[in-house]
Amino acid sequence: MNTLNQPVSALAGIGAQTANRLQKLGLCVIQDLIFHLPLRYEDRTRIYPIGSLRPGMTALISGTVEFIDVLPRGRKSLICRISDSTGFINLKFFHFSASQHNMLKPGTAISCFAEVRYGYAGLEMVHPEYKVIVDPNDCITETRLTPVYPLTEGLSQNVIRKAVKQALDLCKQFPELLTDWIPESILTQYHYPSLAEAIRTLHAPDESVSIEALQNGSVPALKRLAFEELLAHYLSLRITRNKTKAWQAPSFLVEATGTSSNNIATDHFIRSLPFKLTGAQQRVIAEIEADCRSQHPMMRLVQGDVGSGKTVVSAYAALLALTAGYQVAVMAPTELLAEQHKRNFSIWFEGFQTQVMYLTGQLKGNARKAVLEALEDGTAGIIIGTHALFQDSVNFHRLGLIIIDEQHRFGVHQRLALREKGQQDGIRPHQLVMTATPIPRTLAMLQYSDLDISIIDELPPGRKPIVTSVIPAERRAEVIDRIHGWVEKKKQVYWVCTLIEESEVLQCEAAEKTAERLTEALPNVRIALIHGRMKSAEKDAVMQAFKNHQLDLLVATTVIEVGVDVPNAGLMIIENPERLGLSQLHQLRGRVGRGNDDSYCLLMYQAPLSDTARHRLGVLRDSNDGFVIAEKDLELRGPGEVMGTRQTGQMHFKIADLARDADVLDIVQQVGDSFFTHSPQAIQPLCDRWLGASTEYSEV
Ligand code: ADP
Ligand code: MG
Repeated sequence: MNTLNQPVSALAGIGAQTANRLQKLGLCVIQDLIFHLPLRYEDRTRIYPIGSLRPGMTALISGTVEFIDVLPRGRKSLICRISDSTGFINLKFFHFSASQHNMLKPGTAISCFAEVRYGYAGLEMVHPEYKVIVDPNDCITETRLTPVYPLTEGLSQNVIRKAVKQALDLCKQFPELLTDWIPESILTQYHYPSLAEAIRTLHAPDESVSIEALQNGSVPALKRLAFEELLAHYLSLRITRNKTKAWQAPSFLVEATGTSSNNIATDHFIRSLPFKLTGAQQRVIAEIEADCRSQHPMMRLVQGDVGSGKTVVSAYAALLALTAGYQVAVMAPTELLAEQHKRNFSIWFEGFQTQVMYLTGQLKGNARKAVLEALEDGTAGIIIGTHALFQDSVNFHRLGLIIIDEQHRFGVHQRLALREKGQQDGIRPHQLVMTATPIPRTLAMLQYSDLDISIIDELPPGRKPIVTSVIPAERRAEVIDRIHGWVEKKKQVYWVCTLIEESEVLQCEAAEKTAERLTEALPNVRIALIHGRMKSAEKDAVMQAFKNHQLDLLVATTVIEVGVDVPNAGLMIIENPERLGLSQLHQLRGRVGRGNDDSYCLLMYQAPLSDTARHRLGVLRDSNDGFVIAEKDLELRGPGEVMGTRQTGQMHFKIADLARDADVLDIVQQVGDSFFTHSPQAIQPLCDRWLGASTEYSEV
């Protein structure tokens, strides 16, 4: 057995208790320690002249105690002034012992390490690490930067440093234990250090590396590891893709003599639509048809801006499955959206001999039982619902197609788990995934490398761009006037309250207050409130009333973000837009501009606005193109924001940081593809190293 795969308790000085604590950090075997990188570094390699210190610096100094005193004022504290030939600084201790007090007599030489800050009487260090210098050698500085590791309760830096050091020593002694799977030629081409060197540099940087480069992630050692980790993720998704492609899938092509029954049905479907499909919709439909004709499961992502008409494209795919005698499952992230799909699909499939059914977590008792039975015996051809669709109790008769809407709300793992759901007799359903969150190309290739991608890059004709303005909250009164005029014209309005996104309770409270105030200000306007803490039946009732124009103004939290379609609502006010990501704002804004008339979005910010925030809102004002917005947002704020903080599907990395390491993504794709021909033996070990247990999904 490879020594590096032994439990951490095999190292000297690590007992059961420490091993337990390390395990909380995900550090189980010795190798884990090697990839447990420092959070930051401390510089004890040189002594700073006290006169050169500035607030905010963390520095090692050395000097002589001038005086020491206990200040009884306020909180009792021990103050000790030390100086060198360049200046003085105060040390401050709030907790101290008599022996400490005695030890720091005037004239004593000490060295200290801490962050420097402004104090009551000049610069100070609070509770510094310090050492009384008896022998001048005591002051010897360290030769390397000191790593500071992420910790957990009960674990000290010293313990973890010692453990890491032992792990590194093992690697040095037995270099063959830690295989470098990245070919020499690639290392040379991209100026990456070897694996062993990269790891050594990061745990124990020598003088050739600056603390700044380590801190901002530009050191080649870190880039190399980030590259390797991203590569492993890419490879694992590619493997998934290859494996899925090897499965059999239901063929949706039913050839009758002469004409195919598919054709009759699809012609009928297209003819009965109240609009003509756009060129982009037709192109994507053709791509889907080609997939469904193949013997292997389709795994296609349809990306299209809000309002580009993805739903009807997915309905077309559903039709192909139905006419071939298969069931279709449509999964939406919210009940509101599932409900809307249910309505649309019911209309589109009215003339077809099938039942469109609906299943969410809210459905209980006999009603639920009836749906489950209809799915199991095949009377339900289309089932629409939330993730409740994929619980264990749900069994399909003959599932041929899974449609997942607004997939960014679901995780990669959920997506992969679904694939297994409908698997029967060696046959796997086709899968169509839709998202309106445009993801910059480089990120898409990482996150969706198990999927083929189609893009609907054209909006239905007649849509006018949404006129967006950025205005300060002081102009609220004007905005309220505008609503008044708008409602008089028989049009509807959304008012979106965003608050701290993490707190739904606060968000709802804010929305409630806003609704009250607007009701006061606009007595003749029919106002209602919708938020995430309402029961879904209540939400649906409100939404339905808004759709039927029994309401004029809907005050909402970001629950209305996805998919809701009310063409008569052409004005949206978004409060505190500076709190949201641009892509999310773009999604929200996409609720208006669904009809043929002019539509408006007012971004009502709370002044003062930071430069970045001003810039970001400007991007939204100037562009209606989700892809452009996503690219800009990536530039301005990094991918975490682009993909939304609430996104469950976000990938988690040990080392890589998509914002910082965006530059390696292109390399990852190129090198990743070459691995399948040039280094296939490296693929599994790399996935094991970086994805560990979660690699299991690549086995499906
Ligand atoms: P999204 O891509 O955001 O999911 P939807 O599928 O909800 O968009 O479509 C938005 C609206 O556009 C719906 O009312 C839909 O019926 C309509 N629509 C879809 N395709 C077309 C088209 N080709 N021409 C006109 N309207 C269309
Ligand atoms: Mg949609």
